[in-house]
Amino acid sequence: MSGDAFVSLAEIEAARETIAGAVRHTPVETSTSLSELAGVPVRLKLEHLQHSGSFKFRGATNAVRSLNDAERAAGVVGVSTGNHGRGLARAATSAGVRCVVAMSELVPRNKVDAIRGEGAEVLITGRSQDEAQREVDRLVGEGMTMVPPFDDRRIIAGQGTLGIEILEDMPEVETVLIQLSGGGLIAGVAAAVKGRKPEVRVIGVSMERGAAMQASLAAGRPVEVEELPTLADSLGGGIGLKNRHTFAMVRDLVDEVVMLSEPEIAAGIHHCYWQERQIVEGAGGVGVAALLAGKVVPRGPTMLLLSGGNIDMSLHHRIVSGEVVDLAEEAA
Ligand SMILES: *Cc1c(COP(=O)(O)O)cnc(C)c1O
Repeated sequence: MSGDAFVSLAEIEAARETIAGAVRHTPVETSTSLSELAGVPVRLKLEHLQHSGSFKFRGATNAVRSLNDAERAAGVVGVSTGNHGRGLARAATSAGVRCVVAMSELVPRNKVDAIRGEGAEVLITGRSQDEAQREVDRLVGEGMTMVPPFDDRRIIAGQGTLGIEILEDMPEVETVLIQLSGGGLIAGVAAAVKGRKPEVRVIGVSMERGAAMQASLAAGRPVEVEELPTLADSLGGGIGLKNRHTFAMVRDLVDEVVMLSEPEIAAGIHHCYWQERQIVEGAGGVGVAALLAGKVVPRGPTMLLLSGGNIDMSLHHRIVSGEVVDLAEEAA
Protein backbone atom coordinates (compact mmCIF):
# COMPACT_ATOMS: atom_id res chain seq x y z
CA MET A 1 0.00 0.00 0.00
CA SER A 2 1.41 3.42 -0.92
CA GLY A 3 1.97 6.27 1.51
CA ASP A 4 0.52 8.62 -1.07
CA ALA A 5 -2.48 10.75 -0.02
CA PHE A 6 -4.55 9.50 -2.95
CA VAL A 7 -6.41 6.20 -2.94
CA SER A 8 -5.94 4.57 -6.36
CA LEU A 9 -8.32 2.81 -8.71
CA ALA A 10 -6.30 -0.37 -8.08
CA GLU A 11 -7.03 -0.15 -4.33
CA ILE A 12 -10.73 0.29 -5.07
CA GLU A 13 -10.73 -2.69 -7.42
CA ALA A 14 -9.03 -4.75 -4.70
CA ALA A 15 -11.68 -3.60 -2.21
CA ARG A 16 -14.37 -4.82 -4.60
CA GLU A 17 -12.87 -8.33 -4.41
CA THR A 18 -12.53 -8.07 -0.64
CA ILE A 19 -16.16 -7.12 0.01
CA ALA A 20 -17.70 -9.39 -2.64
CA GLY A 21 -20.46 -11.58 -1.21
CA ALA A 22 -21.02 -9.39 1.85
CA VAL A 23 -22.13 -6.15 0.21
CA ARG A 24 -25.28 -5.75 -1.86
CA HIS A 25 -24.95 -4.57 -5.47
CA THR A 26 -27.80 -2.09 -5.02
CA PRO A 27 -30.47 -1.58 -7.71
CA VAL A 28 -30.83 1.39 -10.02
CA GLU A 29 -34.14 2.93 -11.13
CA THR A 30 -34.91 5.48 -13.81
CA SER A 31 -36.66 8.59 -12.50
CA THR A 32 -39.24 9.69 -15.05
CA SER A 33 -40.09 12.90 -13.25
CA LEU A 34 -36.47 13.98 -12.73
CA SER A 35 -35.54 13.01 -16.29
CA GLU A 36 -38.33 15.28 -17.56
CA LEU A 37 -37.31 18.08 -15.24
CA ALA A 38 -33.62 17.92 -16.16
CA GLY A 39 -34.05 17.15 -19.85
CA VAL A 40 -31.49 14.31 -19.60
CA PRO A 41 -31.86 10.68 -18.50
CA VAL A 42 -31.69 10.59 -14.68
CA ARG A 43 -31.24 7.37 -12.74
CA LEU A 44 -31.19 6.75 -9.00
CA LYS A 45 -28.77 4.35 -7.29
CA LEU A 46 -30.75 2.91 -4.38
CA GLU A 47 -27.89 2.60 -1.91
CA HIS A 48 -30.22 3.35 1.01
CA LEU A 49 -31.20 -0.33 0.54
CA GLN A 50 -27.63 -1.40 1.43
CA HIS A 51 -27.18 -3.52 4.59
CA SER A 52 -27.33 -1.27 7.69
CA GLY A 53 -29.19 1.37 5.67
CA SER A 54 -26.28 3.22 4.07
CA PHE A 55 -23.14 2.86 1.96
CA LYS A 56 -21.05 3.08 5.16
CA PHE A 57 -21.33 -0.71 5.25
CA ARG A 58 -19.03 -0.91 2.20
CA GLY A 59 -16.05 0.87 3.77
CA ALA A 60 -16.60 -0.83 7.11
CA THR A 61 -16.71 -4.26 5.49
CA ASN A 62 -13.51 -3.56 3.59
CA ALA A 63 -11.81 -2.45 6.80
CA VAL A 64 -13.00 -5.48 8.78
CA ARG A 65 -12.12 -8.00 6.07
CA SER A 66 -8.64 -6.46 5.75
CA LEU A 67 -7.73 -7.20 9.39
CA ASN A 68 -5.03 -9.76 10.10
CA ASP A 69 -5.73 -12.69 12.46
CA ALA A 70 -4.49 -10.95 15.60
CA GLU A 71 -6.50 -7.83 14.80
CA ARG A 72 -9.62 -9.89 14.10
CA ALA A 73 -9.26 -11.61 17.44
CA ALA A 74 -8.95 -8.29 19.31
CA GLY A 75 -11.90 -6.58 17.56
CA VAL A 76 -12.69 -3.12 16.23
CA VAL A 77 -13.79 0.13 17.82
CA GLY A 78 -15.42 3.24 16.42
CA VAL A 79 -16.84 6.56 17.54
CA SER A 80 -20.09 7.32 15.75
CA THR A 81 -23.69 7.77 16.72
CA GLY A 82 -24.87 7.43 13.15
CA ASN A 83 -24.45 5.45 9.98
CA HIS A 84 -20.75 4.69 10.42
CA GLY A 85 -21.50 3.14 13.80
CA ARG A 86 -24.28 1.04 12.31
CA GLY A 87 -22.26 0.01 9.28
CA LEU A 88 -19.22 -0.92 11.36
CA ALA A 89 -21.34 -2.87 13.85
CA ARG A 90 -23.02 -4.88 11.10
CA ALA A 91 -19.79 -5.46 9.18
CA ALA A 92 -17.92 -6.64 12.27
CA THR A 93 -20.61 -8.83 13.82
CA SER A 94 -21.46 -10.51 10.53
CA ALA A 95 -17.76 -11.42 10.26
CA GLY A 96 -17.69 -12.70 13.84
CA VAL A 97 -15.51 -9.80 15.01
CA ARG A 98 -16.13 -7.98 18.29
CA CYS A 99 -17.20 -4.35 17.84
CA VAL A 100 -17.33 -1.56 20.42
CA VAL A 101 -18.91 1.78 19.56
CA ALA A 102 -18.17 4.56 22.02
CA MET A 103 -20.52 7.50 22.52
CA SER A 104 -21.36 10.13 25.11
CA GLU A 105 -24.29 9.83 27.51
CA LEU A 106 -25.99 12.72 25.67
CA VAL A 107 -26.72 10.55 22.62
CA PRO A 108 -30.47 9.87 22.28
CA ARG A 109 -31.80 6.48 23.27
CA ASN A 110 -33.04 5.51 19.77
CA LYS A 111 -29.56 5.98 18.29
CA VAL A 112 -27.98 3.86 21.03
CA ASP A 113 -30.58 1.14 20.42
CA ALA A 114 -30.02 1.22 16.65
CA ILE A 115 -26.30 0.56 17.07
CA ARG A 116 -26.92 -2.16 19.67
CA GLY A 117 -29.48 -3.62 17.28
CA GLU A 118 -26.72 -4.10 14.71
CA GLY A 119 -24.81 -6.17 17.25
CA ALA A 120 -22.24 -3.73 18.68
CA GLU A 121 -21.35 -3.25 22.32
CA VAL A 122 -22.15 0.36 23.15
CA LEU A 123 -19.74 2.06 25.52
CA ILE A 124 -21.32 5.10 27.15
CA THR A 125 -18.61 7.50 28.25
CA GLY A 126 -19.09 10.90 29.86
CA ARG A 127 -20.65 13.93 28.32
CA SER A 128 -18.67 14.66 25.12
CA GLN A 129 -17.23 13.11 21.98
CA ASP A 130 -13.77 13.99 23.40
CA GLU A 131 -14.35 11.76 26.40
CA ALA A 132 -15.57 9.02 24.08
CA GLN A 133 -12.34 9.43 22.09
CA ARG A 134 -10.26 8.91 25.26
CA GLU A 135 -12.04 5.61 25.89
CA VAL A 136 -11.30 4.58 22.32
CA ASP A 137 -7.61 5.43 22.75
CA ARG A 138 -7.57 3.17 25.81
CA LEU A 139 -9.14 0.27 23.87
CA VAL A 140 -6.67 0.78 21.01
CA GLY A 141 -3.90 0.64 23.61
CA GLU A 142 -5.29 -2.80 24.54
CA GLY A 143 -5.01 -4.00 20.95
CA MET A 144 -8.34 -3.15 19.32
CA THR A 145 -8.34 -1.53 15.86
CA MET A 146 -9.90 1.91 15.49
CA VAL A 147 -11.94 2.25 12.28
CA PRO A 148 -12.42 5.91 11.36
CA PRO A 149 -15.51 7.09 9.43
CA PHE A 150 -13.91 8.62 6.31
CA ASP A 151 -10.24 9.64 6.39
CA ASP A 152 -8.78 6.17 5.92
CA ARG A 153 -7.53 4.31 2.82
CA ARG A 154 -9.63 1.19 3.40
CA ILE A 155 -12.78 3.20 4.06
CA ILE A 156 -12.30 5.37 0.97
CA ALA A 157 -11.56 2.30 -1.17
CA GLY A 158 -14.68 0.54 0.15
CA GLN A 159 -16.93 3.53 -0.58
CA GLY A 160 -15.26 3.78 -4.00
CA THR A 161 -16.72 0.42 -4.98
CA LEU A 162 -19.94 2.38 -5.50
CA GLY A 163 -18.19 4.26 -8.32
CA ILE A 164 -17.39 0.98 -10.08
CA GLU A 165 -21.02 -0.13 -9.73
CA ILE A 166 -22.29 3.20 -11.05
CA LEU A 167 -20.26 2.73 -14.26
CA GLU A 168 -21.53 -0.84 -14.60
CA ASP A 169 -25.14 0.19 -13.97
CA MET A 170 -25.01 3.22 -16.31
CA PRO A 171 -22.02 3.02 -18.69
CA GLU A 172 -23.22 6.10 -20.59
CA VAL A 173 -23.16 8.29 -17.43
CA GLU A 174 -21.69 11.80 -17.83
CA THR A 175 -22.67 13.48 -14.55
CA VAL A 176 -22.70 11.99 -11.04
CA LEU A 177 -24.12 13.75 -7.97
CA ILE A 178 -22.67 12.54 -4.67
CA GLN A 179 -23.22 13.57 -1.04
CA LEU A 180 -20.27 15.35 0.59
CA SER A 181 -19.42 15.52 4.29
CA GLY A 182 -16.07 14.14 5.45
CA GLY A 183 -15.45 13.19 1.83
CA GLY A 184 -14.75 9.47 2.09
CA LEU A 185 -17.68 8.67 -0.16
CA ILE A 186 -17.05 11.22 -2.90
CA ALA A 187 -13.26 10.75 -2.83
CA GLY A 188 -13.66 7.02 -3.45
CA VAL A 189 -16.40 7.40 -6.05
CA ALA A 190 -14.51 10.13 -7.94
CA ALA A 191 -11.27 8.10 -7.94
CA ALA A 192 -13.12 5.06 -9.31
CA VAL A 193 -15.27 6.84 -11.87
CA LYS A 194 -12.53 9.14 -13.18
CA GLY A 195 -9.99 6.35 -13.07
CA ARG A 196 -12.10 4.46 -15.61
CA LYS A 197 -13.86 7.32 -17.41
CA PRO A 198 -12.04 10.64 -16.83
CA GLU A 199 -14.60 12.85 -18.62
CA VAL A 200 -17.41 12.15 -16.11
CA ARG A 201 -18.27 15.22 -13.99
CA VAL A 202 -18.48 14.52 -10.26
CA ILE A 203 -20.52 17.07 -8.31
CA GLY A 204 -20.59 17.20 -4.52
CA VAL A 205 -23.75 18.10 -2.61
CA SER A 206 -23.68 19.41 0.95
CA MET A 207 -25.93 21.41 3.26
CA GLU A 208 -25.51 25.12 4.00
CA ARG A 209 -25.61 24.48 7.76
CA GLY A 210 -22.10 23.49 8.79
CA ALA A 211 -20.44 22.36 5.53
CA ALA A 212 -16.91 21.72 6.81
CA MET A 213 -15.39 20.48 3.53
CA GLN A 214 -16.71 23.44 1.55
CA ALA A 215 -15.31 25.87 4.13
CA SER A 216 -11.99 24.01 4.04
CA LEU A 217 -11.82 24.13 0.23
CA ALA A 218 -12.47 27.88 0.38
CA ALA A 219 -9.74 28.34 3.01
CA GLY A 220 -7.27 26.11 1.15
CA ARG A 221 -6.73 23.92 4.24
CA PRO A 222 -8.86 21.92 6.70
CA VAL A 223 -10.80 24.27 9.00
CA GLU A 224 -13.47 23.76 11.65
CA VAL A 225 -17.03 25.02 11.35
CA GLU A 226 -19.81 25.25 13.90
CA GLU A 227 -22.10 22.19 13.90
CA LEU A 228 -25.77 23.11 13.48
CA PRO A 229 -28.98 21.08 13.56
CA THR A 230 -29.90 19.99 10.02
CA LEU A 231 -32.24 17.57 8.31
CA ALA A 232 -29.12 16.16 6.64
CA ASP A 233 -27.63 15.12 9.99
CA SER A 234 -25.43 12.44 8.37
CA LEU A 235 -23.57 15.28 6.59
CA GLY A 236 -22.61 17.01 9.86
CA GLY A 237 -19.21 17.02 11.56
CA GLY A 238 -15.72 18.23 10.71
CA ILE A 239 -13.13 16.84 8.29
CA GLY A 240 -10.32 16.72 10.88
CA LEU A 241 -7.63 19.39 11.09
CA LYS A 242 -5.01 16.72 10.38
CA ASN A 243 -6.89 15.37 7.36
CA ARG A 244 -4.64 12.99 5.40
CA HIS A 245 -6.61 11.88 2.33
CA THR A 246 -10.08 13.24 1.69
CA PHE A 247 -9.30 16.97 1.63
CA ALA A 248 -6.67 16.62 -1.12
CA MET A 249 -8.74 14.10 -3.08
CA VAL A 250 -11.89 16.22 -2.98
CA ARG A 251 -9.92 19.36 -3.91
CA ASP A 252 -8.35 17.66 -6.93
CA LEU A 253 -11.09 15.28 -8.15
CA VAL A 254 -14.44 16.95 -7.49
CA ASP A 255 -15.59 19.32 -10.24
CA GLU A 256 -18.10 21.40 -8.32
CA VAL A 257 -19.76 21.58 -4.90
CA VAL A 258 -23.28 22.88 -4.33
CA MET A 259 -25.02 23.59 -1.02
CA LEU A 260 -28.63 23.28 0.00
CA SER A 261 -30.95 25.04 2.44
CA GLU A 262 -33.15 23.13 4.89
CA PRO A 263 -36.37 23.59 2.84
CA GLU A 264 -34.51 22.27 -0.21
CA ILE A 265 -33.36 19.19 1.72
CA ALA A 266 -36.93 18.60 2.92
CA ALA A 267 -38.13 18.83 -0.69
CA GLY A 268 -35.71 16.02 -1.58
CA ILE A 269 -37.17 13.70 1.09
CA HIS A 270 -40.68 14.65 -0.01
CA HIS A 271 -39.98 13.99 -3.72
CA CYS A 272 -38.26 10.65 -3.05
CA TYR A 273 -41.33 9.46 -1.16
CA TRP A 274 -44.18 10.71 -3.35
CA GLN A 275 -42.56 10.43 -6.79
CA GLU A 276 -39.97 7.66 -6.40
CA ARG A 277 -41.60 5.67 -3.56
CA GLN A 278 -38.37 5.61 -1.60
CA ILE A 279 -37.82 6.40 2.09
CA VAL A 280 -34.58 8.34 2.42
CA GLU A 281 -32.99 10.35 5.19
CA GLY A 282 -32.12 14.03 4.61
CA ALA A 283 -28.56 13.31 3.46
CA GLY A 284 -29.81 10.51 1.24
CA GLY A 285 -32.01 12.82 -0.79
CA VAL A 286 -29.69 15.79 -1.37
CA GLY A 287 -28.78 14.80 -4.95
CA VAL A 288 -32.46 14.76 -5.84
CA ALA A 289 -32.89 18.02 -3.91
CA ALA A 290 -30.06 19.70 -5.85
CA LEU A 291 -31.78 18.91 -9.16
CA LEU A 292 -35.18 20.02 -7.89
CA ALA A 293 -33.72 23.30 -6.64
CA GLY A 294 -32.01 23.95 -9.97
CA LYS A 295 -28.62 24.15 -8.24
CA VAL A 296 -27.12 21.67 -10.69
CA VAL A 297 -27.66 21.72 -14.43
CA PRO A 298 -26.75 18.17 -15.43
CA ARG A 299 -24.92 17.52 -18.68
CA GLY A 300 -25.76 14.19 -20.28
CA PRO A 301 -26.99 11.01 -18.59
CA THR A 302 -26.95 11.56 -14.85
CA MET A 303 -26.74 9.28 -11.82
CA LEU A 304 -27.95 10.42 -8.40
CA LEU A 305 -27.06 8.48 -5.27
CA LEU A 306 -29.62 7.82 -2.53
CA SER A 307 -26.93 7.29 0.12
CA GLY A 308 -28.95 6.39 3.21
CA GLY A 309 -32.37 5.69 4.66
CA ASN A 310 -31.89 5.93 8.42
CA ILE A 311 -34.36 8.64 9.36
CA ASP A 312 -36.59 8.87 12.39
CA MET A 313 -39.92 7.73 10.95
CA SER A 314 -42.03 10.27 12.82
CA LEU A 315 -39.83 13.06 11.42
CA HIS A 316 -40.16 11.48 7.97
CA HIS A 317 -43.93 11.36 8.40
CA ARG A 318 -44.08 15.07 9.24
CA ILE A 319 -41.98 16.02 6.21
CA VAL A 320 -43.88 13.92 3.67
CA SER A 321 -47.16 15.21 5.12
CA GLY A 322 -46.06 18.69 4.09
CA GLU A 323 -45.32 20.08 7.53
CA VAL A 324 -42.60 22.77 7.49
CA VAL A 325 -39.90 21.44 9.83
CA ASP A 326 -37.15 23.70 11.17
CA LEU A 327 -34.80 21.70 13.40
CA ALA A 328 -32.84 24.80 14.47
CA GLU A 329 -36.04 26.31 15.83
CA GLU A 330 -36.98 23.04 17.55
CA ALA A 331 -33.54 22.77 19.17
CA ALA A 332 -33.70 26.35 20.50
C1 LIG B 1 -21.71 9.44 5.98
C2 LIG B 1 -22.80 9.78 5.02
C3 LIG B 1 -22.62 10.69 3.95
C4 LIG B 1 -21.34 11.45 3.74
O1 LIG B 1 -20.21 10.63 3.55
P1 LIG B 1 -18.74 11.20 3.75
O2 LIG B 1 -17.83 10.11 3.40
O3 LIG B 1 -18.61 11.64 5.19
O4 LIG B 1 -18.61 12.40 2.84
C5 LIG B 1 -23.67 10.86 3.07
N1 LIG B 1 -24.86 10.23 3.24
C6 LIG B 1 -25.08 9.39 4.25
C7 LIG B 1 -26.41 8.72 4.37
C8 LIG B 1 -24.07 9.12 5.18
O5 LIG B 1 -24.28 8.26 6.19
